[in-house]
Amino acid sequence: PSKPSALESKKKAKIGHPSRHLANGTKQASIQEQRRELPITSGKDALLDEIRDNDVTILIGETGSGKTTQVPQYILESGISGKGMIAVTQPRKVAATSLATRVATEQNTSVGGLVGYSVRFDEASSEDTRIKYVTDGMLVRELLGDTLLSRYSVVIVDEAHERTLRTDLLLTNLKSIQKTRNAPADAKGKGSVAKLNPLKIVIMSATLDAEKFSKFYDNAKVIYVKGRQHPVTIYHTAISQPDFVDAAMRTFFQIHTDQPPGDVLIFLPGQEDIESLDKSIKLYADRLPKDSSGIVVCPMYAALPPGQQAKIFSPAPQNTRKCILATNIAETSITIPGIKYVIDTGKCKEKRYIARDSGTGFDTLLTKDITKSSAMQRAGRAGRESIGFCFRLYTEESFKALPDSAEPEIRRCALSSSLLQLKCLGQDLEQLDFMDKPDWEAIASALKTLYLLGAIDNQKHLTKLGRDMAVLPLEPHLARAVVASQECGCTLEIIDIVSVLSASSKLFFDSTDEREAAAEARRKFRHSSGDHMTILNVVRSYQEIVASENKSGRKEWCKKQFLNDRCLSEARDIRDQLREVCVRMGVDWRSSCGDDEQPVLRSLVRGLVQQAAFLQPDGSYKQLMGPSIVKIHPSSSLCDKKVPAIIYDELVYTSHIYARGVSSVPRKLIAEVSVFKNKNIG
Ligand code: ADP
Ligand code: MG
Repeated sequence: PSKPSALESKKKAKIGHPSRHLANGTKQASIQEQRRELPITSGKDALLDEIRDNDVTILIGETGSGKTTQVPQYILESGISGKGMIAVTQPRKVAATSLATRVATEQNTSVGGLVGYSVRFDEASSEDTRIKYVTDGMLVRELLGDTLLSRYSVVIVDEAHERTLRTDLLLTNLKSIQKTRNAPADAKGKGSVAKLNPLKIVIMSATLDAEKFSKFYDNAKVIYVKGRQHPVTIYHTAISQPDFVDAAMRTFFQIHTDQPPGDVLIFLPGQEDIESLDKSIKLYADRLPKDSSGIVVCPMYAALPPGQQAKIFSPAPQNTRKCILATNIAETSITIPGIKYVIDTGKCKEKRYIARDSGTGFDTLLTKDITKSSAMQRAGRAGRESIGFCFRLYTEESFKALPDSAEPEIRRCALSSSLLQLKCLGQDLEQLDFMDKPDWEAIASALKTLYLLGAIDNQKHLTKLGRDMAVLPLEPHLARAVVASQECGCTLEIIDIVSVLSASSKLFFDSTDEREAAAEARRKFRHSSGDHMTILNVVRSYQEIVASENKSGRKEWCKKQFLNDRCLSEARDIRDQLREVCVRMGVDWRSSCGDDEQPVLRSLVRGLVQQAAFLQPDGSYKQLMGPSIVKIHPSSSLCDKKVPAIIYDELVYTSHIYARGVSSVPRKLIAEVSVFKNKNIG
């Protein structure tokens, strides 16, 4: 069987001739000056002593005190990490890449050399890399190829308070890995195990709930870094503000016209709200009197391409106010200098698993109220450099009614992908030592999904198919489609489609202003079988453009077609990486079915078994594996068609339950799937 490898992405060591990368002297001097002034600097020696003396250290410190950027460098320079690497985990991709870039600059090198990063579908590292910023998910994936994480001598679990599912999986695994690696020599036995290098664990968090981590790690020592927080005045609204984007805009312009200089940070739930507020601020800014000071708007969210991240850290030009529109990424993981005013909409996006009676379920990403702990963190961002102001777009009563802190993700997310990874490690989710145990219902549902996909058998044992699926850095249902494409002879096509589905932004814009024109442009890509083949048509046209045009021509083309250029270029990177994984697995990614859609649909059905529905006499669709009645989403190319059977990518809950990303499939393709063999649905 093909061996899962941690490195699902191409190496992009961005190192060349060293002298080319040396920042000019004064800039470097000022960076070193900034480093010296961070609150953590004064505690450096004491901190290093603790880390040297203890297997596990828990470090708590205010956001911006220098934990994430400095601690790895301290450890490296002190020699504590020896010959091994230092991993620093982050819940979010954009934090990992941006922090790695910053720390590389502080080390006067370029990213991918001494300091690198590794996130899903993107990596910058080389033989020289000693400090690696990784997403928690990436490190979990590395476990599959290196069960003891032996390349690392220190693992720093950062932003631990966020308690993402992958962070929890890591905390559990690190505990047992450390037991093995740090056991006294005679207990290790003979052979290769005896040579194991010990592992140090550092857990870092910006919030004060350290006790639970300490307890989990046998009462590990907790260290506090003193922050430098200035007072922040907090205002609440008198009445609640249902349209928080509009309220944020009005508040921003009030600050801009009435208040002294200082940058503004606005917290919004997600990318769509950020883009819409970005637009309206720019629109109104144009109407301000000529002599008013300028405004630069900088968005900051998980899917922001690396090229645009630098903007938020550079100071605004003279007589200009910077306005940063961010998701909760700016709450604790990324500290932006110069903020004096915070506008808090009180909203965030939360992943939540919706369980179904039938034992199946799915994740949704819904906008919801934040927690008290988040609200405090958000306000705190205004007082880092001097006194600050926080404008909450909700009432004081609403604040008091907020929950204290969020439930850990392991208690509210789909577990199928993690369960599969754990199976590959020979671990059972049910038996692991977690800080918080997952619900048995969620486990049962994940087991059911994996069984339906053929990744485990009815004894819950991992199958060969399951092992192959785990090698692909994809959600299990998409991985299943890729594996199926091998048999169906359409890996080329399936990888193109799956890459678009795995990108972090959508391919088609749902913009309201030019809906007609967009629909018109979209029509020429339309395929009669529905949205998956339509995606393939788009990708094929895009590839022709890429081959013939330069980058700006490509962007222009996307704009004209109302396609999201960012999605397509990200999908291309994902595609390249999936092809590499295929090569390692011995799968021929070139195998193609040409213009025949049947093999593509057949492969997709294998992955989307739980997302199939049949037409009912009244024109709606009934789920095959669940109780819901669904309609085809208006954005689908099949929205006004009545076809006997459909498969879909996701469900959207509004006034109805809508299926989005829909293809029409012959019923016989569904009947072929082994779990349906004995049911009469041909
Ligand atoms: P903590 O982890 O304790 O919240 P950090 O180590 O992330 O603190 O931040 C320390 C300092 O480094 C902050 O002043 C922050 O503004 C700065 N910093 C972090 N990333 C960048 C970057 N990409 N560019 C410029 N400054 C940065
Ligand atoms: Mg940090």
